[in-house]
Amino acid sequence: MKPIHPAPLLIVIASFDPNGNGKNDYDPAHPELLYDKTSPIYGEQWAISKPEDCYERFFGESGFSMMNYYKEMTLGKFWFYPVPIDHPQRENAPEGILEITVPLPHPAALRNLEGYNNETAAAKAIHDIVAACDPYIDFAKYDKNGDGLVTPDELAIVILNAGYDRASTKADEEFSKIVCENGPIPSHRFMVHGTSQPTDAEMSGGVKIVRVSNIGEYNSTGPITIGTPAHELAHNVGAQDMYCRYTPPAEQVFGWPLPLNFSLMSWGNHLGSGTRPAYIDPYQRIYLGWAEEITAEKDGEYTLFSTLSGKYSVLKIPTPDPDEYFLCEVRLKEGFESQLTPGDSKGGVIIWQIDEAINREWFLKAQCVSSNLPGGKRHDLGNAIRLRNMFTEITDEDGHFIKYGPCYKEKNITEDPFFYASDDAGTGHFDSSLYCGAASGSYSLNRFPEGVSPDWKLIIDVLDAPGAEMRIRIKRS
Ligand SMILES: [Zn+2]
Repeated sequence: MKPIHPAPLLIVIASFDPNGNGKNDYDPAHPELLYDKTSPIYGEQWAISKPEDCYERFFGESGFSMMNYYKEMTLGKFWFYPVPIDHPQRENAPEGILEITVPLPHPAALRNLEGYNNETAAAKAIHDIVAACDPYIDFAKYDKNGDGLVTPDELAIVILNAGYDRASTKADEEFSKIVCENGPIPSHRFMVHGTSQPTDAEMSGGVKIVRVSNIGEYNSTGPITIGTPAHELAHNVGAQDMYCRYTPPAEQVFGWPLPLNFSLMSWGNHLGSGTRPAYIDPYQRIYLGWAEEITAEKDGEYTLFSTLSGKYSVLKIPTPDPDEYFLCEVRLKEGFESQLTPGDSKGGVIIWQIDEAINREWFLKAQCVSSNLPGGKRHDLGNAIRLRNMFTEITDEDGHFIKYGPCYKEKNITEDPFFYASDDAGTGHFDSSLYCGAASGSYSLNRFPEGVSPDWKLIIDVLDAPGAEMRIRIKRS
């Protein structure tokens, strides 16, 4: 089911109290008791956040809240609103947020105990945290389709684990304990990796909670920003990762042409330290039902609109290969995307090349853009971005540019990878025959069906400077 109706969201601030005495036993004179596996308070870790600290960040009606992020990206089709708490924990507690304490060590400590590993410790902690929410919310009424499951489009859950998020927190290098993640302060050494995770917590009324997002409550810059929760929640409703999943470090390719900043599911969740996450890529905006696509059956002029104009749509340009097509969209550096690239460029047109033959096989396995080697062989990206001036240049003996190589010349997005009209004719001109598949090295298309000339190409000329409305002219030959 496509997530096109706003969904209630429950945020759970989870504390870990292994001896179950209901109070924080951390003693600054004896921090080692938290890290000693034989101590009754091994893995004790209490949340720093209060519901009041989280409300505006996630549910604020104004400013750069997560609710407004989803509203902006989906043109008002989908967002997460605070789930009403049927039986509040205290007077005047904010909607949408619970504080839960479980009699368990933090999962990064629990996994070191007999009978547990990484996976089972996380599963146990998540299960018990979700189950402990049962008295406060009548979960059964959210099972809209009556299948006995409360799915994330019916009610989403984010667990904010006491302590820090591993991926966005600098570990304390002075402190080193095998049994810890070496979190930055003595009372909070254990950390979690952000995940979207299945669970099977049985709730009153005979319903099960089946999937949650699980992250730390803090990172190096302070309370966890909205980028990582927005990314994990997008997974919950069906989005896939757009970075190199399952590629061992030794096999990583420098400059593998990922969407990077241009998708929430690649690096876009980290922009502005997670305060200004980028939208999801247009392929998934269409896939999730958050944007319209318009098909360019004929060559000629088309007008594209920015997201904040309220008229955003994606132009789909078919090619002679039924599985391959191009997508064109306007991405401006405004609203949540104000930090899309470094520097002062305004944004412009972004061009993508989609290959459904790749996506049929790899999208749902979260590997449609990965540089891994399934079966010993890399495949092209099913969701490839054609950024301007980012790819390595192949030149002739005299140093004249011929075409682009398969990978980026640098690791990070440059200031101005957009296409737009300007005094420099080069900024507005796209020629597919200069770009190739990252694995196949095949120019213009990854495959040419029988009877199609290998000289087939798509030319796109952008006719306007960056703006809410940008015309392009396309020609296939
Ligand atoms: Zn992810």
